[in-house]
Amino acid sequence: MNFKDYIRVIPDFPQPGIRFKDITTLLKDGQAYKAAIDAMKEKVQHLEIDVITGPEARGFVVGAPLALSLGVGFVPIRKSGKLPGETVEAGYDLEYGKDRLALHKDSITPGQKVLIADDLLATGGTINTTINLIRQLGGEVVGAAFLIELGYLTGREKLDGIEVFSLITY
Ligand code: 5GP
Repeated sequence: MNFKDYIRVIPDFPQPGIRFKDITTLLKDGQAYKAAIDAMKEKVQHLEIDVITGPEARGFVVGAPLALSLGVGFVPIRKSGKLPGETVEAGYDLEYGKDRLALHKDSITPGQKVLIADDLLATGGTINTTINLIRQLGGEVVGAAFLIELGYLTGREKLDGIEVFSLITY
């Protein structure tokens, strides 16, 4: 299956000059969505994964089904102020704008092998922040998996030796 055919590119969203990769056109197609998760599973199943984590919101629609299909848990990373328990937090710059992410302190136990999942790797800012949060809790990041990688933004190079897996590259 050519997964790129299911991604819609929307010019000038959310800002002029940005060509937004819209994954909702893939998600609404049951066969394509399942095939994409199956293909991601193929890429990462050789890793010893204890738990998958992903940043809200699109990291959930990739990370949670991947976790279910691998039979491991899913830990949500949320915007600051949303999680009810004690958190670790970190701020970061986005391709467009700024944000702050939070993770429950007891969501990852020291030594656990963690796979990060998200819809798209752009500059790597989001995932770098995620890596820092996981490491603060003593987790070991074993890889990062994406539906889409924007190769021209070279986010992969900023990910500090972490193995990166992606289905679609622009
Ligand atoms: P980064 O931090 O790597 O620069 O940006 C990646 C984050 O921004 C991801 O969490 C992703 O959801 C969001 N993002 C940035 N650009 C796009 C895009 O074109 N399409 C989608 N679906 N998400 C994007």
